[in-house]
Amino acid sequence: MTSVGDVRDPRLEQLVEGIVRLAAGELDARMEPSERRDDIDAVITGVNLLAEELEYVYSNFEQQVADRTAMLRQTQAELEQMAKTDSLTGLANRTLLGERIQEAIRDSTEHGKAPAVLVLDLDSFKAINDTLGHGAGDVVLVEVAKRLRCAVRSGDTVARLGGDEFALVITESTKDEILQIAQRVSEQLQDSVDVGAETVWAMSSIGVCIGESGQPAETLLRDADIAMYQAKAQGRNNVQLFRPDMLDAIRDRSRIVADLRNAVAGGELALHYQPVVELASGTVIGVEALLRWHHPVRGTVLPDSFIHIAEESGLIMEIGRWVLHEGIAQIQRWHETAADLTDFVLHINLSAAELLRSDLLEDVRITLERHQVAPRRLVLEITETLLMSRGTTEEHVLSGLRDMGVEVQIDDFGTGYSSISYLRSLPADTAKVDRTLIQDIVTDPQQQKFVAAVLQLISAAGLKAIVEGIENSEQSAQLQAMGCLYGQGYFYGRPLPPAEVLDRIRGLDPRH
Ligand code: C2E
Ligand code: MG
Ligand code: MG
Repeated sequence: MTSVGDVRDPRLEQLVEGIVRLAAGELDARMEPSERRDDIDAVITGVNLLAEELEYVYSNFEQQVADRTAMLRQTQAELEQMAKTDSLTGLANRTLLGERIQEAIRDSTEHGKAPAVLVLDLDSFKAINDTLGHGAGDVVLVEVAKRLRCAVRSGDTVARLGGDEFALVITESTKDEILQIAQRVSEQLQDSVDVGAETVWAMSSIGVCIGESGQPAETLLRDADIAMYQAKAQGRNNVQLFRPDMLDAIRDRSRIVADLRNAVAGGELALHYQPVVELASGTVIGVEALLRWHHPVRGTVLPDSFIHIAEESGLIMEIGRWVLHEGIAQIQRWHETAADLTDFVLHINLSAAELLRSDLLEDVRITLERHQVAPRRLVLEITETLLMSRGTTEEHVLSGLRDMGVEVQIDDFGTGYSSISYLRSLPADTAKVDRTLIQDIVTDPQQQKFVAAVLQLISAAGLKAIVEGIENSEQSAQLQAMGCLYGQGYFYGRPLPPAEVLDRIRGLDPRH
């Protein structure tokens, strides 16, 4: 070691200190070489070079770590994005929508305007999927997504909730602006969508809920959904703004479902029977079974206020089964007390869903046999709208019924907008003209011509015609003049409890 006399070379301390700093991670620490150019200087230069190298390696390493971390973050963001977007349309999914609503609610506490949520459900998507296939369905969904994005501002969220349901979150807007956006969205969807060579429509029912400050995110989406269902109930293709009384309707509805569940087992259901007559003579040729619900608290409830609920909740299957069994059993009971009455027929109304009941054909056959009722004495009434949208299963069941000898009647004819070409292939024997068509035939000559044309159309399609809702003798005379042979309506008799039917059939009605 170099020393001058007893004095230690101060560079040695510098060197030790420099090495300590380097060891402590101060990689930019450098030592000044002296003028002497001796061994110590050589070591100092060597250590400096080592430090240089270390600093380079270290910064290179840091850069690599930073790059990798950025890549990881990017992948994580992409994964999150994938988990939060709908792969078909690229829109936000339900999870992201929930987050955006939360964010919008949080932000709204600053600027005071609570966000609004719109829920949209396409009106005829199932039909598109069923008739043109899922590929066509996807084309429509992608097009709808595009139109929705065009209808809102870039900061608003457009999401697909699943299936054919979409949602929008609109922020910082007034009620008027929100309703305008809803209207614009609805208009965007009025234009047809081209799917290959086919043209389809993607109109939708839209529910709007304008939030209030402090409202939780879940209720905002739920209320928009309730408003959307209201839009469906109002005939589809329209916009409804949520009102609190819509919640009451939902509660009422669930109460009805709960009560209806007990109605069959509790013996609260009954059938009333309305005469079907030959117009000229007034002779009863049959009766239509019409369901009545004797509710323990609400009294007698008419089918229009519960059949659709039974249909939506699936309870219609059990109810329909009961109606079929009870109606056919009643024919046998009448027959037992009036053996001569072997000809009149029983009309029973069937809901769309019942045609999909797998055991319907078998149930009809066995029940008729059990009560010794000939199949020709049963007429099953099915609404025109159902026949228009029938699929292969329904087709199969209808032809099965007709093969068995049961008559199929189109109910409410003239309300389902049958296409004329379609009419010829309807799987039915008779058509019952809806009462709304004949309401004004006595006073409105135009309506007379229209009904006459409808009757001709039915006959040209090879079907027999019957008219419902005849309320006075003038209507009856008018219809007979047009060549209509059969009908039903309050003029000929209101729906009656079973005990009063035989007297009516025998013509013991005081009016006759
Ligand atoms: P619908 O099959 O078209 O039955 C005719 C409806 O018109 C009945 O109403 C009947 O009481 C009423 N009506 C009969 N004559 C006249 C008239 O001259 N003027 C007026 N204004 N109305 C008349 P109701 O009994 O309330 O039944 C309503 C609907 O409920 C029925 O229409 C049918 O679609 C459905 N329905 C009834 N019973 C059943 C059933 O057992 N199963 C199913 N799935 N649906 C049923
Ligand atoms: Mg009917
Ligand atoms: Mg009808």
